[in-house]
Amino acid sequence: MDLFDGAVSKVKSIYELAKLLGNSDLLLQISNLQIELADLKSSYADLTNENRELKQKIQGLEESREEPPVYKNGAYYSQNGDGPFCSGCYDKDKKLIRLSKLGTQMRLASHICPVCKGAYKLTK
Ligand SMILES: [Zn+2]
Repeated sequence: MDLFDGAVSKVKSIYELAKLLGNSDLLLQISNLQIELADLKSSYADLTNENRELKQKIQGLEESREEPPVYKNGAYYSQNGDGPFCSGCYDKDKKLIRLSKLGTQMRLASHICPVCKGAYKLTK
């Protein structure tokens, strides 16, 4: 607020000088300037508060954002090892679709995506 306090103080000094000159139009203009300055100070305070709140919101969102999954052995796994998830669905839509395990009689694929029907042969 030092910026505004300095400006308010200068305008006050100018007002005192204008009073000595006895120019009523000038005094009126300076009074209007003082009012506008007070409005600016109030708006500045509001914006400063809003900016602080938005910064806190961004920080909260960044902290709560989920860690991206890790791609390994042909599929995605969450940071805590959950999975496997379909790489096609994640790469296309950023959706983690859990792969369904196929029976052991299936030799060409071990897992299938229930959404895009992508077939996977995963080693584990
Ligand atoms: Zn899929």
